[in-house]
Amino acid sequence: MITSRFAPSPSGRLHLGHAYSAIVGRSAGQQFLLRIEDLDAGRCRAEFIDGIFEDLQWLGIAWDGAVLVQSARTEIYSGALEKLRDQGLAYPCFCTRADIAAAMSAPHGEVGAAYPGTCRGLADDPARRAAAVHSWRLDSAKAIALAAVPTWTEADGAQFTSARIDDVILARKDAPAAYHLACVVDDAASGVTLVVRGADLRPSAPVQRLLQMLLGLPEPRYLHHPIVAHDDGRRLAKRDLAPTLAALRDAGVDGPALAARLGRGELPLGFRFILA
Ligand code: GLU
Repeated sequence: MITSRFAPSPSGRLHLGHAYSAIVGRSAGQQFLLRIEDLDAGRCRAEFIDGIFEDLQWLGIAWDGAVLVQSARTEIYSGALEKLRDQGLAYPCFCTRADIAAAMSAPHGEVGAAYPGTCRGLADDPARRAAAVHSWRLDSAKAIALAAVPTWTEADGAQFTSARIDDVILARKDAPAAYHLACVVDDAASGVTLVVRGADLRPSAPVQRLLQMLLGLPEPRYLHHPIVAHDDGRRLAKRDLAPTLAALRDAGVDGPALAARLGRGELPLGFRFILA
């Protein structure tokens, strides 16, 4: 049985790209799960969680079972971090909050500049750690040496390998897990066998495969689908005034009819698919 999932972050209202992702996920899985990725307390709001339910209902997309809400699972992520620390694969990082704030959210699009490794290999002085640790990072070179260079398999059977893995942030002082760690823990805990998401998140696959190997988690397949962009190639983004599903609904668009069109790979005028 294929279990897929849709894992939006409630940092704004859903747009056409989210609708497309949910529809691909729904039709790819016999079982389709909904997960709310709300670990970034600074950006996520309860009203947007309600918005996700509303928008999916409007489209006529039903999910199976209980909704998993990441903010309720912080102890579980701490346990996973502990396991990596015990293996000597996570090091404390003292770089400032501004440097690392971005790690809570999924890194859509271009992967940012790689972490220069400032804190890798610093003596792990307990006094200093207690005073100033801002985050925990994966020692990616050590992790690859211990596990393997990660490979992943897309839904069509194509296999990929990448050793270009950054020392990603695993957790922050004020947040028990960053995106990659919470994502792999939850995909495994919910029995997800097919990770469905936009091709802009493809660079996350090798990082997540590496974490799965280190934590002894099962290997899912991946379906990184084309993403919805404006006709001029600009990606849909909140700051870009992408039309939200709520706005389409208010304008009288029929939700299930829109969902059916998206399911056939047809986009409304003014939009096109791009590969990321
Ligand atoms: N929470 C991410 C987002 O809002 C999705 C992450 C994933 O599907 O792995 O796009």
